Formats: sequence, C-alpha cells, structure tokens
Amino acid sequence: MQMRIFTLFSLIFILFFTESFGQRNSKNGESNELKTTPKLVVGIVVDQMRYDYITRFWNHYGKDGFRRFVDAGFNCKNTHYNYAPTSTGPGHASVYTGTTPATHGIIGNNWYDKVSGTEVYCASDSTYTSVGTTTDAGQMSPHRMNVTTITDELRLHTQMRGKTIAIALKDRGAVLPGGHTANAAYWFNGGVEGNWISSSYYMEKLPNWVEKFNKSRKVEQYKKAWTTLKNSNLYIESGSDNNAYEGLFETEKSATFPHSTPNLLNKKKDFEIIKYTPYGNSITTDFALEALEAENLGADTDTDFLAISFSSTDYVGHKFGVNSKEVQDTYLRLDEDLARLFNALDSKVGKDDYTVFLTADHAAINVPAYLNDQKIPAHYMEWDDIKTKFGQFLRFTYGTTDIVKNFSNYQYFLDHKVIKNLGLELREVQETIAKEMLTYEGIDRAYTAHQMWQNDYSHGIPYILQNGYNQKRSGDVLIVLRPGTITYGKTGSTHGSPQVYDTHVPLLFYGKGIEQGSTVKRTEISDIAPTVASLLGIAFPNGTTGQPIAEVLE
Ligand code: ZN
Ligand code: ZN
Ligand code: ZN
Repeated sequence: MQMRIFTLFSLIFILFFTESFGQRNSKNGESNELKTTPKLVVGIVVDQMRYDYITRFWNHYGKDGFRRFVDAGFNCKNTHYNYAPTSTGPGHASVYTGTTPATHGIIGNNWYDKVSGTEVYCASDSTYTSVGTTTDAGQMSPHRMNVTTITDELRLHTQMRGKTIAIALKDRGAVLPGGHTANAAYWFNGGVEGNWISSSYYMEKLPNWVEKFNKSRKVEQYKKAWTTLKNSNLYIESGSDNNAYEGLFETEKSATFPHSTPNLLNKKKDFEIIKYTPYGNSITTDFALEALEAENLGADTDTDFLAISFSSTDYVGHKFGVNSKEVQDTYLRLDEDLARLFNALDSKVGKDDYTVFLTADHAAINVPAYLNDQKIPAHYMEWDDIKTKFGQFLRFTYGTTDIVKNFSNYQYFLDHKVIKNLGLELREVQETIAKEMLTYEGIDRAYTAHQMWQNDYSHGIPYILQNGYNQKRSGDVLIVLRPGTITYGKTGSTHGSPQVYDTHVPLLFYGKGIEQGSTVKRTEISDIAPTVASLLGIAFPNGTTGQPIAEVLE
C-alpha cells in the first residue's frame, strides 16, 4: 500500500514538472532558457555621447540607427558613470569589466605611477612592438587592467573558440574592451600613415584582410570637405553654425560649414584630421564590416564578440562643443553608420542571431562660455593663481613644497618619505591640504585618502570618488570642482568630473534575448557586463561589482 501511494505521488510529481517545464520550454520557442546564445555580440561605445543626444536629434534619426534600439530594443534612460574621473580609458575598462577603477585599476587615461615615480598611459606597454606601422603607436597591451572583461569570460567559456575582435580609432578604445585574450585589437594610426594597426601582444603581423584594407587607401576618400548631411538650416536643435564657443581647424577663418581647409583636403599627409570629422566614424564602420566578413564573425555556434568604439564624436565634441551644429551633424552621420552596421548584421549573421549594446565612455559639459551667456553659472579654473597660493601655503606650513609629488586627475600625490622625515602624520597632512584646497575659488569639495579608506560611501559625490579610488594607485587628497567648472580652453566641451553632465550616458540593447521596453530606474555602467554575462549564461568578469539589469533580459 505504502509503495502504491509512493508510486502515485511520484507519478503526479513527474506529470506536474513535465507540464511546467513543457510550458517554460515553449516560451518563444526557446529550447533552453538557461542561456541565450547569439552567434555574435556587438558592443558599441560612442565616445563622449550624452544621453540627451538620443532625444535631441531624435527627429532626424532614420529607422535603422539609434531608433532600432529604442523601437525594438531596451532603453535604460538613467544610466550613470558611478566613479570619477569620467574619461576614456576608465570608461572603456568599466563597461567591459563590470566594475570601477577602485577594482580594475585604470584610474585615468594617464596617471602618476607611485612605484616608478613616472606618468604612465593606461594602454601603453613598451615590452611589445608595433604591428603595421614604423612608429611606436602599436606598443600597447591591456596589462594595466587588473581584472577580466566580459570578452575574456566569453573566450574562456567557449574554450577560446569564440572570437573577440576590438576596433576603435583610439588605441585605448580597442585594447581595453578586447580584454587580455582578444584575438585582435586594431586602432587607427593617423599622422602621415592613415592605417589600421595593432600590437605584437596580439599578433606578429597584420592578417591579409587588414593589409588589403590599408593598401586599398580607402582612407583617402575621407580626406574631403566636411559638409552637412542635411541642409544645416534644419539643424534647429543646435546653436548657430558660427559662434564664439567653437574651436577652429588650422588655417580656418571661422568654424562654419563646409569645413574645407587645405589641411582637410591635402591628400598626401595628415590623416590625423579625419579623426576630427564624422568620417572617422565612417572609416571605423568600414573596417568593422570588413572584420565581420573576413573573420567570419557570428558564423558558427560559438558566440563571437565584436567590440567597436566610435571615437570621432569625442574629437568633434572637444573642438566644437555640445551645442554645435558640428556635433549634430556627427550624430546624424553616425546614425547612418549604425544603420549600415545593423543591415550588415541582419544579412551576414541573421536577423535574430545577434545581440548589440550601445553606451558611452562618459558624457560632456556644455561649453561654460555659452552657459554664461545664457546667465547660467559656469566657470573656468584659474590654476596659476591657485598654484602660487598653494606653493606659499606649503612653504609657510612645512618649509618645503617637496611634500607634493604630483597633481593629476584632480588628486594630489604626497611624498610619504618627506612627510615621515619631517616627523609629520600623513593623515594630518592630508587633512590640512584638503582644508586649504577648500579656500580656493572653484574647488567645492576635498576628501582625503584616509576618508576613502575608513568609510563606505553609498551615494552622492563621495560614493563616486570612492569607486574611482584605487588603494594602490590613487593619490592622497581628492578635490572636486564646483558644478559647471572646468579646466579647459574657452571653446569646445570636455569631461572628467563626477557631475551628472559627465556621468549620464545612453545604454541601449537590441537583438536576441533582449526585452522591448525602457526604464527610468537608475542603472550604472558597471551593470552592463553582468547583464551581458547573464544573457549569455557565462561567468561574470572576475572583478564585477555591478548587477544584471533584470528588465533588459527576456
Ligand atoms: Zn572618451
Ligand atoms: Zn560651426
Ligand atoms: Zn574626450
């Protein structure tokens, strides 16, 4: 009898679970909901893209560029950088590692290395040689990034069968996203060459398809006058073409369309200038499409990863400013490049077989001089004045300026030996300098390394500073400028601060495994990698501190 009851229960149990699993299995025809396996993941970083560039230029976008993400994918409307400095190297590292400089160690584009006492660049590595150029522009590797990337984890998960190819005009925009295990990272060497190059970290020589692309001299086509895509009178979302807030190209009299200086048109040399026009993004797209084809990305069942970073948006923003028609034209043209990319992915990989995300490595501030003219408080730092006062203060208080070794990324690095020899307490010196900083015009807040060590901040500016503070690499005193204040020339925009205009960026998803919708819930840049890892069902990058964004996933 007992046996029969047991059998009956077993039968009910089996029926129940077969039923419920059957229902789950039938959802979207997926045979296995443990993971989604697109044939290709495409990660896109748009250098210096503000969130409001989606909304500001919306009426001009075509259906297959930015609109494809918003109409058929997922839009995280409230995504922020959760650390400072908001600059390119840390930005790309954070998107791909799912963590912040406190953990991944990329604390700036350049920083003062406390061990060697020299300034280092985030992606440089003199132990490797250049590939594809006679210059040293290829001596790069990700060795300063202390943790794995989502691209590394995908390589490990697929027993290195899934390929990673990373592409950007800027070396750091390719090297950091590619992670430690990329099959290749390529970047653009402007100068007199105008070629896509790499490092011996990845390969001994460029593959044939890259050689062929360089030899085709396609780059020459982009040495042309920069005209507007549409009639510039239609660009009512931007300021006037000629204004005092824009920088000039060499030999140019006014910052107006068409930009056709001899420097732009000279076909023989200076390919550097292409970076400062939207054509830099177009040649990046051309090269990425070539990679898609020649590397057979998304051709088999092992998921591949194509990491693309569009850098021209940053060069144009720095030169002409957030409110310029030049920035608007650059985004309208980028929209067309995105459409080219989407259409190629549809036909080469297959409409439902790939997943794409798009974000930025930081945003940017409107030109302070322009804001001033609209009666909005904004300022330029007068560092010369501060340097003089600070030098006087140090001599008066400690009898020497040797106590400060370096100032970079808004942090003072102190000489711990000098402090010890003077019989001073490091913590007290940090505090004294922090208090002195607050007496200077334009400096709004100051924190000490001691505070970063002792506290666990959960929100606001200190939280952002702490996420950017790396115990081994960062400085002794951290300062924050008053909102709207920058260290920059009077023309063009910049970034780097912990303020919201630098932290608020787009985060868009599209394709296989992605829900259609949007959220205004706060999400952070370190959430991207764990979201993609959850989608793929693979391990999180080994320093991950972000959380998967559940709403994004089907
Ligand atoms: Zn950048
Ligand atoms: Zn202009
Ligand atoms: Zn920049």
